[in-house]
This record gives sequence, C-alpha cells and structure tokens, in this order.
Amino acid sequence: MSKLQAVRGMNDILPDEAERWEAFETVVRDWLRAYGYRPIRMPLLEHTPLFKRAIGEVTDIVEKEMYSFEDALNGENLTLRPEGTASCVRAITEHNLLYDSPRKLWYMGPMFRHERPQKGRYRQFHQVGVEALGYAGPDIDAELIIMCQRLWDDLDLMGIKLEINSLGSPEERLRHRAELISYFEAHETALDEDARRRLHSNPLRILDTKNPAMQTLVEAAPKLSDYLGSESTDHFAAIQERLLAANIPFRINPRLVRGLDYYNLTVFEWVTDQLGAQGTVCAGGRYDGLIAQLGGKPAPAAGFAMGVERLMSLWNTVQADALIERPEAYVVHSGAGAEAAAFRLAEQLRDAGFATLMHCGGGSFKSQMKRADASGADVALILGEDEVRADEVTFKPLRGGEQVRVSRGEVAQQLAMLLLGGGDADDEEETAFTLQ
Ligand code: ATP
Ligand code: MG
Repeated sequence: MSKLQAVRGMNDILPDEAERWEAFETVVRDWLRAYGYRPIRMPLLEHTPLFKRAIGEVTDIVEKEMYSFEDALNGENLTLRPEGTASCVRAITEHNLLYDSPRKLWYMGPMFRHERPQKGRYRQFHQVGVEALGYAGPDIDAELIIMCQRLWDDLDLMGIKLEINSLGSPEERLRHRAELISYFEAHETALDEDARRRLHSNPLRILDTKNPAMQTLVEAAPKLSDYLGSESTDHFAAIQERLLAANIPFRINPRLVRGLDYYNLTVFEWVTDQLGAQGTVCAGGRYDGLIAQLGGKPAPAAGFAMGVERLMSLWNTVQADALIERPEAYVVHSGAGAEAAAFRLAEQLRDAGFATLMHCGGGSFKSQMKRADASGADVALILGEDEVRADEVTFKPLRGGEQVRVSRGEVAQQLAMLLLGGGDADDEEETAFTLQ
C-alpha cells in the first residue's frame, strides 16, 4: 500500500520542534501578560461572508487563497480562517465584549491559505494575533509597536526592522484612489495584466507590484501621503514621536499598503533580511472601520499578527536539547508482583511532584536499564522480587552517585536529596536545581 502523506504545505511539528514551540509560547504568554492582554480562542471555521466582508472581495486572500467549501450536511458556506482579526471582531461583537470598556485580546493558532508552499510560506501556518479594541490611538498604536520590540529582545532576535506608513482616512484614500486610477489610466499600456485587472477594483495594490518593469511607473504615481489631512498626519506624527522616545528606529515606507482592506491610518511591518523572500515576521495596523462593518457598534481598533514559523526559524539561538524536560525517575521492574509495585511507586512519586517514567513493554533487566539511561532520568528505581517482598527500592543514580537500597516511603526524599546535590551530583546540576 502506498504511504499516506500530509497535505501539501501543511506541516507536522515533531517532538523536538514542538518542544521549542512550547518554549516560544511560554515567552509569548509572559510577554502578553506584561502588557495586559487576555486570551481569546475562536473557531477555525467561520461563515465565508465574514472574511469576504472583512478582508475585502478583491484581495489576494479572498480571491485565491481561501479554503472554502459547502457543508455537505446543511449547505452552509464555510471557510477555514485565513487570519484571526475578522473572527476576533466577530466574536467580540457577538458577545458584546466592548459594552463597558476597551479590550486587549490575543490568540495563537493555525491559519489556512492556499498559497504556493515555499520556505516561510505554508498552507497551514500559525499566527500570534494581538488586538487592542476600543482604542483610538495614537498611544496604543505606538505601544503595539513598542511591545513587538520587547518580544524581539526577550527572544534575543536581532536585525528585525520596522517599517511604518499611514493609509489616512477612508475619504482621503478615496480621493487618492481616484487620482491613482486617472494616473494609471493615462499609462494603461505600461500596465501588466495583474495591474490592469486591479485598476478599477483595487488600484492601491498596484503600488505593491513586484514586477520590475512597472517600478518607474509606480514610483511616479500620486502618493497617498500628499492626500492626508491634518488629523491623519498628526496621528502619524504622534506615533513617530513615541517611537523616537522609545528608541525604536523605523523607516517610513510609503508603499506599505498591506493586503487586507480593513486598515486605515497606521500600518506597520517588521522585516528581516535573514529569511530570504519571506522576510516579514509581523504585520499590523489600525482598523477603525471593521467593527461597524461587521455589524458591531462603531469602535476604533488596532492590532497585528506575527508569523510563528518565520519567528521560529529566526529563533535558533535556543537549542532543543536545553529545552527537553527529562524525567527525574525511571522505574525498572521484574519478577512476580513487581509491575503492580512499580505502578504504585510511580504514582507515589508523581504525587510528590517528580516526573516519572514507568517502564512499559517488558524486557530483560539489562534492556530496561538501557532505556532508563537513554531517557535522561536522574535515577533508576529498581523493583525486583526481593525489593517487593521487603517493601524497598533499589535507588541507582544514573548521573553519578552511590547505589543504595531504601524503604519505599523514603524514595521521594532520597530523590529530592539527589537533585539538591546531596548525592554525588556534579556542580552544574546543583546550580541548575537550586536556581529553579
Ligand atoms: P506576505 O506578504 O508574506 O504574504 P501577508 O501580508 O499575507 O504576508 P498577513 O496577512 O499580514 O501576511 O499575516 C501576518 C504574518 O503572518 C505575516 O507577516 C507572516 O509572518 C505570516 N504569514 C502570512 N502568510 C503566511 C504563510 N502562508 N505562511 C507562513 N506565514 C505566513
Ligand atoms: Mg500573503
């Protein structure tokens, strides 16, 4: 029979890697708590119109990247979420979470987009999403950016650079859009197929083109910044002031427009050149219109999403080895009645807080001891017929120290002493333990 394989672009995260992910998630949770963000968990499936309305009909995501299908049982049109903001706004509106105060929320989990898989670009990928709902900024916009810098520091990541831009208000964008359309219409022969398709539906996205032949045309196009009114420019200036005060370098990138329609005013991206073509590790901005657009009471909001896979490939300073939680004890048993005694002993040690591996699967004493050693445990606890009869355990330290025989009731205490360095444990282990 042919071997079964995962769906293209959807990855298994195997134990060594999964342990690194867990360590990353711990750093992320602590970081979010430090800024007062609370968790929210949304379903992976939503009604398709949610994303069409939130992200925009003529965006890459909605046009060609969504996993949408009709539920065979009831005919509903459903979509695997391609991003989290739409679902989050749907949830806070549905549950009326903004009725008395603003909310700072975060989530983490898989997102789905039908893209061409390559390094840093997958069909199931993971995001950490952070949303500040009910805040008009610019203080919160600045804090959202400043908190990213803290995470890079917490993770020891270097060389992640900030780009910012302002998209202004919807009215300013409309005026700019009209000018942009006339400009591109006047140069229609110079447009590629993609640009021509977008000319009347989403001309702003033409500015984002990667086609070298169109660069000069795009450079000379009407600039949105020339259409911003004083409120928008003040908002943008206020953010920059706060970034300067926080010592965060940034580059204003007038061509940063983002691929989702819901943004206004502030947009930003954190970019690295250490990941090849997929260099954006975090992206976000303000989306003041979205809540009302999805049927909620109008309220301002801003947020960002980070790509976990991209951050994980930067975060290689932490070795998987250092993260693996090894068991403290490994219970070896052979002979009549020994298995039952081993089960009891293992549970007793877990009661005392020790991670304990109970040998399963039988085998000779020698092969069990080999497993015990390979597990990385500090001690093998041996139960033979002899020990069981005497209600004792042979306590064999695996990383140095004398083998002793102790009564069953004393095992936990003996193990605690060994871990504290009371045995012959070397200095390194001693420090490691006392520091915890
Ligand atoms: P890109 O320009 O790389 O396609 P995007 O603008 O589509 O990114 P967003 O929707 O803003 O991305 O998502 C935020 C972050 O999620 C991105 O900056 C990136 O780190 C990550 N991300 C987006 N799409 C993918 C994907 N297909 N695979 C892995 N990570 C992704
Ligand atoms: Mg994309």
